[in-house]
Amino acid sequence: MKFLLAAINAKYIHSNLAVYSLKNYVEGFGEKVDIAEYTINQNLDELLADIFIKHPDVLCFSCYLWNISYVKQLLVEVKKVLPNVVIWLGGPEVSYSALKFMEAYPQVDGIICGEGEQSFLEIVEYYRGKRNSLKDINGIVYRMRKTSENEEQIVENPFRQVMDLSEVPFVYDNMDRFEHKIIYYESSRGCPFSCSYCLSSVDKRLRFRNSELVKEELQKLIDAEVPQVKFVDRTFNCKHEHALEIWKYISEHDKGKTNFHFEVAADLLNEEELSLIETMRPGLIQLEIGVQSTNPKTIKEIHRSMKFDVVKHNVDRIHKKGNIHQHLDLIAGLPYENYESFKKSFNDVYALKPEQLQLGFLKVLKGSFMYENAERYKLVYQARPPFEVLSTKWLPYEDIIRLKGIEEMVEVYYNSRQFENTLEELENIFEDSFTMFEKLSNYYNEHGLFLLNHSRIARYEILLDFIKEQDRGHIEKYRNLLTLDLYLRDNVKNRPQFSGDDTVSKEEAVQFYDREAQEHTYLQGYEDYDKRQIRKMTHLEKINGKLYLFDYKNRNMLTNQAKLITVS
Ligand code: SF4
Repeated sequence: MKFLLAAINAKYIHSNLAVYSLKNYVEGFGEKVDIAEYTINQNLDELLADIFIKHPDVLCFSCYLWNISYVKQLLVEVKKVLPNVVIWLGGPEVSYSALKFMEAYPQVDGIICGEGEQSFLEIVEYYRGKRNSLKDINGIVYRMRKTSENEEQIVENPFRQVMDLSEVPFVYDNMDRFEHKIIYYESSRGCPFSCSYCLSSVDKRLRFRNSELVKEELQKLIDAEVPQVKFVDRTFNCKHEHALEIWKYISEHDKGKTNFHFEVAADLLNEEELSLIETMRPGLIQLEIGVQSTNPKTIKEIHRSMKFDVVKHNVDRIHKKGNIHQHLDLIAGLPYENYESFKKSFNDVYALKPEQLQLGFLKVLKGSFMYENAERYKLVYQARPPFEVLSTKWLPYEDIIRLKGIEEMVEVYYNSRQFENTLEELENIFEDSFTMFEKLSNYYNEHGLFLLNHSRIARYEILLDFIKEQDRGHIEKYRNLLTLDLYLRDNVKNRPQFSGDDTVSKEEAVQFYDREAQEHTYLQGYEDYDKRQIRKMTHLEKINGKLYLFDYKNRNMLTNQAKLITVS
């Protein structure tokens, strides 16, 4: 009986921790299964052919919001070319609506609901003749086919008790398979909070992996010098001792190569954690913080317990130290959040100057409290994944469209970090930051710019054209700032038109690099290069009479910007 666990990821760089956990878990009991990883960007027929060639007897799909449409199409086709294959599904996208899913897709033989390791082991044992029936396997819904008549029945077994997380095997003993991939790691499962839109709130059974085991495993990842480890823990710092112990360990054993990503509740960070974070190497950790809204009525209604004044204080404190990348999230479309109140939420969060500000839209997920209360909130949402909100009692579709435009402007001009100095100055001429992005979005709309693909340089030119409409009197100042932002990012080969002629004469540049190649006054780490090479690797620019040197070898670990040196 050949088992194939198929994972369809959103991007090539992702890997699917769940299927590796299942494989390693059952292998611990002597059962062998295979894994196939694909991406949603691959042609469906390509996957179909690959699965056909692999010819599994039992095919299992790991189902998430980002791949469920793909899985639904694929399983229908698979059954046509492999009519005898048994199909099982698992994952959050099917766990909470298993019965309905099985009714809609007769191709599916069963669904694992919730945590999968033990259920999957028992399913493998069943198909390999080590168990007599599926009826004693908890945590599954399955199709019982009655062979005599052409009848069948869908059976829902009782829920499965959660397992000890330390029994889940470590999946990264052989790192070859994960080269160029983000490594996902789980040190806790479940979430103690109850946010009404989130499926993690449905399962409150919070448990932790033994911290000694965690340290041992993290050491392997540190030794392998993997670039990034993303903790999938829903709220990593919900237990102080656990978070502190792990943060201390990675700080003390850091080799300067690995970045660790954590989702945290910023208002739960205590003094000891904050003090430790302040001492960390820039780039050692990054924090993702869900604010979602700063409207107290909204926060209460969605059952969150976030104290924004504490979030503000802690995010601000971390920001001032400048060593941690902070990613803050907002959600549009929540109860009691209209356009004006979202504007306030946005301005409150933007004022904290996170490295990334993600403006997301409510997803109405089956099984969530929000889904159950959709009528009460007059939630209108997409019928297809990701089930994103289209309008609410407080937010008409027109406003959602406006916010979509603003979201794109925030992505392009703020989150790209390519216009930092320009935006910082530009903000001052608007009543607030939200209005700046709103006006920029209106400009894109009026000029039909949303529908086109723009080069990186074109984004600078569009911003300058927009500024000409807003603040014509100071256009030179903005040209300088855009040039500064451009060169901070890249040593561009062809100087763009908006930057005007070279600001440093050939003679001045020759003199500077002659001297620098001998004296090494400004640049560190260039000692082995000659003056021509140094000139190629750096950039000189005169702004407002001051001479600046852009050092691309020594970039800022958080922003990736070149080191800016004032020469004179
Ligand atoms: S949104 Fe985050 S904090 Fe809230 S229930 Fe989900 S995982 Fe927990």
